[in-house]
Formats: sequence, structure tokens, C-alpha cells
Amino acid sequence: MMDFDEALEQFDPALGLEVHVELNTATKMFCGCPAAFGGEPNTHVCPTCLGLPGSMPVVNGKAVESAIRIGLALNCSIAEWCRFARKNYFYPDMPKNFQTSQYDEPIAFDGYLDVDVEGETFRVEIERAHMEEDTGKSTHVGGTTGRIHGAEYSLVDYNRAGIPLIEIVTRPIVGAGVKAPLVARAYVQQLRDLILALGVSEARMDQGNLRADVNLSLAPKGSDRLGTRSETKNVNSFRSVERAVRYEISRHAAILAAGDAVVQETRHWHEDTGITTSGREKSDAEDYRYFPEPDLVPVAPSAQWVEELRGTLPENPTAKRARLQAEWGFSDLEMRDTVGAGALGLVEETIAAGAAPQAARKWWLSELARRANEEGVELSDLAITPAQVARIQALVDEGKVNDKLARQVFDGVLAGEGEPDAVVEARGLAIVSDDGALSAAVDDAIAANPDVAEKIRGGKVAAAGALIGAVMKQMRGQADAGRVRELILEKLGAGEG
Ligand SMILES: [Zn+2]
Repeated sequence: MMDFDEALEQFDPALGLEVHVELNTATKMFCGCPAAFGGEPNTHVCPTCLGLPGSMPVVNGKAVESAIRIGLALNCSIAEWCRFARKNYFYPDMPKNFQTSQYDEPIAFDGYLDVDVEGETFRVEIERAHMEEDTGKSTHVGGTTGRIHGAEYSLVDYNRAGIPLIEIVTRPIVGAGVKAPLVARAYVQQLRDLILALGVSEARMDQGNLRADVNLSLAPKGSDRLGTRSETKNVNSFRSVERAVRYEISRHAAILAAGDAVVQETRHWHEDTGITTSGREKSDAEDYRYFPEPDLVPVAPSAQWVEELRGTLPENPTAKRARLQAEWGFSDLEMRDTVGAGALGLVEETIAAGAAPQAARKWWLSELARRANEEGVELSDLAITPAQVARIQALVDEGKVNDKLARQVFDGVLAGEGEPDAVVEARGLAIVSDDGALSAAVDDAIAANPDVAEKIRGGKVAAAGALIGAVMKQMRGQADAGRVRELILEKLGAGEG
């Protein structure tokens, strides 16, 4: 491994990203089986998705619609006529021994997505977005790695076989230099935001609805040719996308600097150790013996339909970011941090649920970002909703809890103790502003600290801090500090100023 910064002094990285999006259609791509996640193994199956001889596939119209909308949102051209193709290879979780995909006739092509990285815009060019079907899922039992090597036996679940996928492939992304890992992360994040805004997929990386393959190659600095690439498969979080790119840059650089050749291969990403390991040597496309699928009619969307779908697109993401920044009054840096943390949608929903923009930003980017980081998960995977965050801020605004107590409310909600109000109640976190209880605590503090009390009587109002501290300690931080101060000054006959 070569140090990352040193690697980028010697080499220029080229990135390529292939993202698979699992569509949220009710049924599968080529049959009427439910496309829902989970279910008892092999219950969402029929002769077509089991690949039985003689079964005939039919294209899911809703999946074509989603594919066109994704293509349009990525500024692609939409094919007037295109076909599916058979991609031939053997895999136990693909019983037909070919995957129905698209080859030289993708439904969408030649687009781009503008990605914001630390205030700079990178235009990521999209080569194509094509339709295909997912495979089944193998579980390798026994052995230590969970992989097929060393396993005692393997189980196959075909529930996922035939679920519609859109594969979005970028052109090589060059010129990002040291920002390459951040560009890769931002691209996947902003693509996910777009997919969610389109409403075409749940886009949950932890459930495999959105899976990224990261291609990377290095070329000597200043050279305009591309080096040999590696393809790291199924990287399943934004953070891992960034880490995988960093890792591969350092790994390639060390190989090239030693005068060796990078092997063109797929690699596995290991979340726990943050490294990639060798998978299989990657064959070129020709080896799949693609040919047009004879059992399916071509897809030929009319220009009128495509224009109708264009009318259903959500706001352009770049324009939307600019609009939200203006509405929320965020500085460039605040906006950049919000986008970079993958918190834009969460902050937006929290504000929609009633929180002030700065408060929404503060909770997601400090308190909750820290917790997500500690647990090694994405912000969106935390067990708290934007509505709950907004409610906790409302409790602060209403004076029921202060910031410190609010953190304990977050603890409770994240621990599954229920809604914020229920946590405040169950944990007894509400601030005491009832004069009876406060007055008794103030009397105790005065009695316990006669010297301080004397100073305050003598006009040293600043000394009140020590008594406030004593009261807060006795009340376990749950006293209204402003009211405590007033009571102390009142009781000791010391006015302000
Ligand atoms: Zn089926």
C-alpha cells in the first residue's frame, strides 16, 4: 500500500461507478410474482422466474416507466426502440443460465448528474441506464467466511430472482484527483436522493435496494490513457464507497510503483477491515455471448409517453439545493456540510415537521452524526425519524427540556423507548419550573453556602453562579436555570444592576 497523498502525487485516478437500483414495483420484471423484500424462501416464485422450460416472460410496464423516469432525471436520451438481451453465464442462483438484461440497446443513454463536492460541481457523465432482472440469493452454510469456499453446502432462495433492476453506468470520471473518493461518495449519495425523489425504489443500501460497484484505475500523472481497472463489487454504504476508492488508489499505486501490472479483476469489499480482496478475473463483455432475447417484444416508448413522464419528474437536484439553501438561510459551508453528511433529505423533513432550519441542521450534523459515526451506520439508518427530531426540538422550544436533557431524550428514542414525549415522561426528564420545588432547593443552597450568600447580599451578583450550580446539581440538571437565578436574587434582596 502506498500512502494516499503520495499516490496522488504520482498518479491520476479514473473512477467508474455502476449502481444497481432495485425498483419498488409490485411485481417482478417478467412475471406476476410479488417483488416484495423478504418472505419465506422460495414463496415468491413461478415457472417464469424459476426459469422452467417453456415459460414465457412478459415485460412489466411499470418497470419500463420507472426506467424512463430515471433516465430522464439523469438527463439521458431515451431509446425510441430497444430490446432485451440474454447475458449468458452460469450461476446457481440464476436457473435460466442467462440473465435477461440489455446490451447494446439500453433504454436510456448519454446523460449526466452534476454532483456537489465541497462547494465544487463535478459533472458525472452517464453512459447508460438499462433494465435487467435480479438473480436469486445464495447462502453458503458452514465454513468460516460465509463465502462459497469452505462452505459445507449452499441454499438458494429465488424470491429475489426476476425483481426489476436498473443498472446505471457512468463514463470514466477523470480529473477528480484527491477528491476522487469524495466524488464517488457524493455521486452515490446524490443519485440515491434522486431515486428517492422519483419514488421508484426504497433505495436502502443496507437491504441491497441500491448497490454500487466501484471501478478504479490509475494512470501516470499527466498521461491521458486509462490504466487497468479493478472492480470492487457490492459496496453497501456511502462511507464504504469513499473508503473503497481510497483503498484501491493506495493499492494500485503500490503495484504500479513497484513496476508490476494491476490485474483486471473483481474484488470483494470488507466492511470490518476496510480492505478489498481478490475475487475473480474479470472477463470482457464478449465472453457473455449476448444476443437479443427472442421471447420478449422490443420496448418502443412513444414520444408522447416520454414527454408525459418528463412532466412527472421531481425538481432538478441542483436547483433544489440552491432553493433550499436560500429558504433555510444556510451559509455555503453549512449547506455543503449538510449535503456531504447525506443529511439534506433528513434536514428537509425535520424542517417540514416544524423545526427551525438551524435546529434541524444542528441535531443531525452534531449529535446524530456523532452517534451514526460511533455505530458505523448512515444517518438515515438511525432508529429515529425526522418527525421525532422535530418534536425533541419543540420540547426544547417549549422549555420542557434543555439541550442537555434533550440528548437524553435522543438516547431514549434511539434505544426504542418510544416517542420523545413518552421518553421525557418515563425517564422523568422534564425541567422543573414549579416555584415550590425550586424555592426549597434554593433555600437549601443558601443554607449550605452562607459565605456565597453573604457576598450576594453585599451586591456581588456575579457570585450567584455558584448557588445556581448547587441548585442544578441537586435537581439533576432539570431546573429552569433562569428562574433559579431570579429566586436566588429575590431571596437575598439583590437586584440586577
Ligand atoms: Zn415469477
